Amino acid sequence: MSGKEEIIGLAQQYLISSYNRLAVVFEKGQGCRLWDTEGKEYLDFLSGLGVNSLGYAYPSVVKAIQEQAEKLLHISNLFYIAQQAKLAELIVRQAFCGKMFFCNSGAEANEAAIKLARMYAKKKRGIQAGEIITAFRSFHGRTMATLTATGQDKIQKGFEPLLPGFTYVPFNDVQVVRNAATDSTIAVMVEPIQGEGGVQVGTPEYLSGLREFCTQRGILLILDEVQTGIGRTGRFFCHQHAGVEPDIVSMAKALGAGVPIGAILARDEVAGAFVPGSHATTFGGNPLSCAAGIAAVEAMIQGGVLENCRKMGDYLGERLLRLQQKYSFIKEVRGKGLLWGLELDREGSQIAQDCLAEGLIINCTMNSVLRFLPPLIISREEVDRGLLILDRVLSRQ
Ligand code: PLP
Repeated sequence: MSGKEEIIGLAQQYLISSYNRLAVVFEKGQGCRLWDTEGKEYLDFLSGLGVNSLGYAYPSVVKAIQEQAEKLLHISNLFYIAQQAKLAELIVRQAFCGKMFFCNSGAEANEAAIKLARMYAKKKRGIQAGEIITAFRSFHGRTMATLTATGQDKIQKGFEPLLPGFTYVPFNDVQVVRNAATDSTIAVMVEPIQGEGGVQVGTPEYLSGLREFCTQRGILLILDEVQTGIGRTGRFFCHQHAGVEPDIVSMAKALGAGVPIGAILARDEVAGAFVPGSHATTFGGNPLSCAAGIAAVEAMIQGGVLENCRKMGDYLGERLLRLQQKYSFIKEVRGKGLLWGLELDREGSQIAQDCLAEGLIINCTMNSVLRFLPPLIISREEVDRGLLILDRVLSRQ
């Protein structure tokens, strides 16, 4: 089976239609480029929604997966898993002192963070019905707890009753968090940059203000770095730009360079709230995903990838600002590292589709924000090539 129409026909017949899919079927990728079943080439400015930060077919990742597949794909968490322990050490060394729990996705990582915060609050502070403060326009996942944490009606609608224990406040404002906190508040959970929420960048003052407030009140600071973590903003974790340390950080997306994996890292004292039996997963932290994770993290920290991300991120940001000067319908340019958004005064999804037709993959979030998440290995020439296509499409508006 290889024909595009045949594949789309099968998908429409047999898959639950919970996605608005575009009529392209990709077959292979290399670096920042993808090819579809009809041989057409695309430049990828989306990285599988922030997953393929090393692009496609990154040699050391491919090798690690091949070698691990020949030895051991899965073994249960009833046993010690060498790759899991090694990956945890690697990540802790890039971040802060603490302990990790591995799972399979971003939502699961946030689910683990929420469970850990509730357990910690019961054991440490005797709070039985704890409240977690999250932000409007946030996105934390699609499980029941994480969609409840997500401050967007459109994600929650139809799935009521939601979980109790969540309060929402505007993003990027410490005072509203102070005002909303009560004696039952156990945690504040935010993204350092709201990705799905339209690339809203949390200021360093916001993050340090939250840290200070949470520390004063004995409230946990949970940072959701599922999209911003593992190098996306030019530091291993985005919160490192602000010089703050959370109590729990969640991660996923780029961690396995394309192999599903998620995780949380929690400060030792907080992590200690989980004891054997508190939380578990069958697949989480299996040898294959962790072998991919080790290769991905090593490439990220040893291969000059973070430096390239910072350089190319600044360059992409400058080029986008130039486009804003050219087109008055671009209201704002926001971003950091290689996570950027162009806020338009109009609907953006047709523009994203026109870019796709011309061989550039981007997406549109919050209806009017064009989002750019290219692989962190992107070259200057590729940035130029992508922006030429974008400029051409925008000029037709
Ligand atoms: N948190 C953030 C910040 C995200 O961007 C996402 C996905 O886009 C998630 C959580 C959910 O991750 P997953 O789709 O792997 O469950």
